Amino acid sequence: MEKSDFKRLHNEFKQVLAKIKQYDRIICFRHVIPDYDAFGSQMGMYTWIKDNFPNKDVRYPGETNRSFVPSLFPEPEVVDEEWINRGPFLAIVTDTATTARISASVIDKADYVIKIDHHPNVDPYGNLNIVYDHIVAASQIVALFALSRSRKYVLSSKAAYYLYAGMVGDSGRFLYPDTDGATLRVAADLIDTGFDLQDFYDRMYAKTLKDVEVRKYVLNNTKITPGGTAYYTLTDEDCKRMDILPGEGKIYVNEFRGVEGIYATVSTTEDAQAGVWRVSLRSNRKKVNGVASKYRGGGHEGASGATLESLDELPQLLADLDAVPLDR
Ligand code: AMP
Repeated sequence: MEKSDFKRLHNEFKQVLAKIKQYDRIICFRHVIPDYDAFGSQMGMYTWIKDNFPNKDVRYPGETNRSFVPSLFPEPEVVDEEWINRGPFLAIVTDTATTARISASVIDKADYVIKIDHHPNVDPYGNLNIVYDHIVAASQIVALFALSRSRKYVLSSKAAYYLYAGMVGDSGRFLYPDTDGATLRVAADLIDTGFDLQDFYDRMYAKTLKDVEVRKYVLNNTKITPGGTAYYTLTDEDCKRMDILPGEGKIYVNEFRGVEGIYATVSTTEDAQAGVWRVSLRSNRKKVNGVASKYRGGGHEGASGATLESLDELPQLLADLDAVPLDR
């Protein structure tokens, strides 16, 4: 992080606190098909608000994700029409680049929207947009907010645990680019709140024999393009046979990362219910988000998502990815 980031954040965080104080009813949102950072930033923000303003009515709706719920995060809440229409509320949306990726479509009913994100700001949908696309996790921004409040506010070990989960998830255990000194300092402060770090890692990296079987299948069925893109495809039938959900097909996308001669990795999973193919693109050597945005997606330079209407589009996507020049 740069010095100028902290100056800007200082101002933005003052506004966040003022808005939290102003509204008695608050919704914390995360993006669809939630990952660690989506859950972590949402639940970290929710928990911080409840810890410090117990009388406020704060909600955390969204899709669930059986890989993380209930061992790391609680089931999301259902927020009904009656709640939405009862009166003005503040929406705090974390880790979500575009309105299309917000879990519930109630955002336009919110009185005031705060966007806290670390994706390129292609859709500044907030009344206040706190967006730093070179910060490794949205949870790091929420953690900075919580850590930089005055002593009269608490950061509980529960809130810290959620935020740490988001940071570990999106940084690949502090491995991916954009991990920097600030990331580690924030992580250290979160650990110092006293949650059980070993228990956290046991839960986060718990594996089942089923995981091993799917990984085996993915390793055996990964193909490599002439330009060094490793890719695998899971059909609806594959997912059913191996008992995985469409959102879980991407879990193995990093298996070939770092292998000599591999410059990008791609997972493609059929989502029969939505009638599309979900694609995840990853690279530590080239920018993948340009290709993702060509195929109804977007994301970070090194990690993006896209959607194919038909598998016939995959060869062109792979050719496009092969054609992206190497950064290093
Ligand atoms: P995924 O492969 O779905 O895990 O996505 C990788 C990263 O790209 C995550 O940070 C997502 O939030 C982001 N992403 C995925 N799809 C989109 C999209 N349609 N627009 C913007 N960002 C996206």
